[in-house]
Amino acid sequence: MKTAVYPGSFDPVTYGHIDIIKRASQMFDTVIVTVMVNSAKTSLFSLDERVNMLKEATKDLPNVVIDSYNGLLINYCKEKNIHIAIRGLRAITDFEYELQIAQTNKELSHNNVDTVFLTTNLIYSYLSSSTVKEIASYNGDVYPCVPDFVAHALYEKYGYKNHNQIKGDNL
Ligand code: ADP
Repeated sequence: MKTAVYPGSFDPVTYGHIDIIKRASQMFDTVIVTVMVNSAKTSLFSLDERVNMLKEATKDLPNVVIDSYNGLLINYCKEKNIHIAIRGLRAITDFEYELQIAQTNKELSHNNVDTVFLTTNLIYSYLSSSTVKEIASYNGDVYPCVPDFVAHALYEKYGYKNHNQIKGDNL
């Protein structure tokens, strides 16, 4: 049984993340998507909200499990006996950062955790949670970027009530 973990902030989950999750779920027996508590980042959504949005977004993928963790990825992997971490790559700017993290995890885990990179689906290459939050904060259209229920949650966070109208106006 091959299990992989896909760690991230998922604040909130986007179609870019969902695409990576779907593709990973076809490669591994089980994919655990783990919302990591990142003390360096202030999140818009609480840990529970992020976990629940991921559960809803992946409810049709039977071999995908959603979890959360406050600590180092390598410790999580050790606890769960996982040896593969999945990360997504959008551009060369992601690569430098991701390579450093991957090498650190490999070193710290004494070669027990390897990182598998999946390149973005080109149609989602521009997507990031930060961009989506910025668009929503100005009442822009985020429906092409995230599932409808995530869009609704974003507009609610930023105090906009007319999200359905936004959707209609932009179609
Ligand atoms: P983190 O805070 O750990 O960087 P994110 O939630 O922003 O987490 O992203 C988790 C992972 O998903 C990262 O490896 C990131 O590069 C990848 N990712 C984010 N958006 C996309 C996208 N549009 N296409 C492919 N991979 C993506």
